[in-house]
Amino acid sequence: RPILEVQNLQKHFNLGNNKILKAVDGLNFSINRGETFGLVGESGCGKSTAGRTIIRLYEATGGKVLFNGEDIHAMQGKDRQKLTRNMQMVFQDPYASLNPRMTVGKIIAEGIEINGLYSGKQKKERVNQLLRDVGLNEEHAGRFPHEFSGGQRQRIGIARALAIEPQFIIADEPISALDVSVQAQVVNLFKKLQKEHGLTYLFIAHDLAMVKHISDRIGVMYLGKLVEVATSDKLNAKPLHPYTQSLLSAIPLPDPEAQKQRQRIILQGEIPSPVNPPSGCPFRTRCPHAMPECAATMPPFKEVEPGHFAACHLL
Ligand code: SF4
Ligand code: MG
Repeated sequence: RPILEVQNLQKHFNLGNNKILKAVDGLNFSINRGETFGLVGESGCGKSTAGRTIIRLYEATGGKVLFNGEDIHAMQGKDRQKLTRNMQMVFQDPYASLNPRMTVGKIIAEGIEINGLYSGKQKKERVNQLLRDVGLNEEHAGRFPHEFSGGQRQRIGIARALAIEPQFIIADEPISALDVSVQAQVVNLFKKLQKEHGLTYLFIAHDLAMVKHISDRIGVMYLGKLVEVATSDKLNAKPLHPYTQSLLSAIPLPDPEAQKQRQRIILQGEIPSPVNPPSGCPFRTRCPHAMPECAATMPPFKEVEPGHFAACHLL
């Protein structure tokens, strides 16, 4: 069975004055052991909220998240702690997510201590090993986060996430705050660690070009909903949803001949407010193919081809 199953997951925020922000509004997808699932969408589409709700930094408003078949949101106390040992998060901002008053060694060791994994000399060795695993070295253990570059800080964040040997890591835009020159290095580090540690990733990003390069399968989000899920190859070769088609059309192709053939699909208008989403299909205010039916009813998220899901009345 999949390592993670997300079933009709919802996270709504009550803003007062009868306003409800439906940041995540009914997600369905699963992630197989050892794979990288990319969750992609424009800023504000709810992808970070989805990540945080899956790992239970937020309590879900509705739906279920099964991890190895167990309902995460029903877990309490010890079980919950055991779960958090198996799931870790790497955050977008390596500047904000590391405590500036703690040495790097302490930051990495914290989870090891809380979970009572190693102590004394073994703990120190474990920290040194983690530093080497992420391309740093043991001399870095005594230094503070501000002494490091953005890319190095993200390596520290990754070492911290790995410290307690999780099976599953949610990486929320882990490279978007970094210089372009170091982004590829950090992506390669994620790949290397996946092989070495048998990790499963939920990789959240706004940049489809990057996600398609690193993911086995991809989910495309729009206004709190998944509009398409497929393998990276299928999504790339035959995107079914008009929103995915527009995202892909913006990515330059390496082959100049193919690029000449490519029609860029420019979307009109802004993303509507998730507090006040359109009726029917959430994408209809920007969709080049919108029909009257699209305003009336919400298209079902259906399996159009084996393993290829999309929500559009055209399908
Ligand atoms: Fe466009 Fe209608 Fe399909 Fe929505 S359901 S993506 S508006 S064609
Ligand atoms: Mg975000």
